[in-house]
Amino acid sequence: MLLKRFFSPLPTFAQRSNLVNMTYLPVSQKSLEKAAAILRSGGLVAFPTETVYGLGADAYNSAAIAKVFEVKGRPRFDPLIIHIASVETLEEVADLSLLSEDVRRKVFLLAENLWPGPLSLVLPKSEKIPGIATAGLPTAAVRFPAHEAAQTLIALSGGAVAAPSANPFGSLSPTRAEHVRDKLGEKVDMILDGGPSQIGVESTVLDITGKSIKILRPGGTPKEEIEKLIGHVEDGFSPSAETSGGFISPGQLKSHYSPQKPLLVFSMEEIIRLPYEPDAAYLFFDGSVRDKWVETQTENLPSSAFIRALSEKGQVLEASARLFETLHELEKSQISRIFAQFAPPEGLGAAINDRLTRASM
Ligand code: AMP
Ligand code: MG
Repeated sequence: MLLKRFFSPLPTFAQRSNLVNMTYLPVSQKSLEKAAAILRSGGLVAFPTETVYGLGADAYNSAAIAKVFEVKGRPRFDPLIIHIASVETLEEVADLSLLSEDVRRKVFLLAENLWPGPLSLVLPKSEKIPGIATAGLPTAAVRFPAHEAAQTLIALSGGAVAAPSANPFGSLSPTRAEHVRDKLGEKVDMILDGGPSQIGVESTVLDITGKSIKILRPGGTPKEEIEKLIGHVEDGFSPSAETSGGFISPGQLKSHYSPQKPLLVFSMEEIIRLPYEPDAAYLFFDGSVRDKWVETQTENLPSSAFIRALSEKGQVLEASARLFETLHELEKSQISRIFAQFAPPEGLGAAINDRLTRASM
């Protein structure tokens, strides 16, 4: 049932346009088989997941993985996430014997309760995973996505797919196949269109290998859900962490996920007091704050004004699903800067606020 939720019944972009060709196909059994064959022969496939679109390569093929770095312009120090399609495969890609019994128990507790889903677990990597995939680190981030097409693709290929988000390094993550086509286009062998991503922010990255268990990147799995299962976890992702020394997970880089326009983030109390400026976009978290702001404007707002709420009723999942999509739209618009409102900090709001903060740096 849960998985069905991630399958979009709406016609996808590829179905609606004339772009159905060798490289850009809607998800179907046939296109998934074709995509898996491309992966098995060392090619690159962009594919939908419930978080954002991934740029996949066979996780056991170092030459294919090297192409992922090249196509994204991604620095070699930035490790990829290893995607699997069953809990059993975890032991193929990770060496759980290097963990204490207590930590191993926590890993299985998390996997059984939160997989498939938007949670990446940083674990000791197995020897089968080439060093290039993990940027030379002895650990690998492993995720079992909750998207039926992604699961089928992974299972039909070699069983493990190394995939970062399918965007040029540092830019906005893609939540639609069109975003991948616009930014990477011909550089990938195939783009699978599965409609818009249902969660719209990347996975939560949880490092379970250190003395304390840390969230390296807030994302689609709320911290609260993790803590219910394994107790207190630390926040290891404050934007200032970059200067604190030691290894930094690149999702933690200060300036990341950025639209190519200046963006400023405000609390609800602050944004409500901003006067309208014609060259700025106003991105509210909820419709009620937007309405209040509109009422307080003394001048008439032009119909061309870019004034949006991520969710009319302030629903956090709807807001996260729309975040990158709206920023992509703003990037293409005539607007010269963006004023955005922070989400409430709980649950998925932490991930939204993290992306907004990094986009503002
Ligand atoms: P992306 O899939 O583009 O969102 O990027 C994957 C992100 O996962 C990286 O930028 C890191 O932040 C994180 N990550 C992947 N592997 C590891 C690892 N072994 N240790 C810490 N963080 C990791
Ligand atoms: Mg990324």
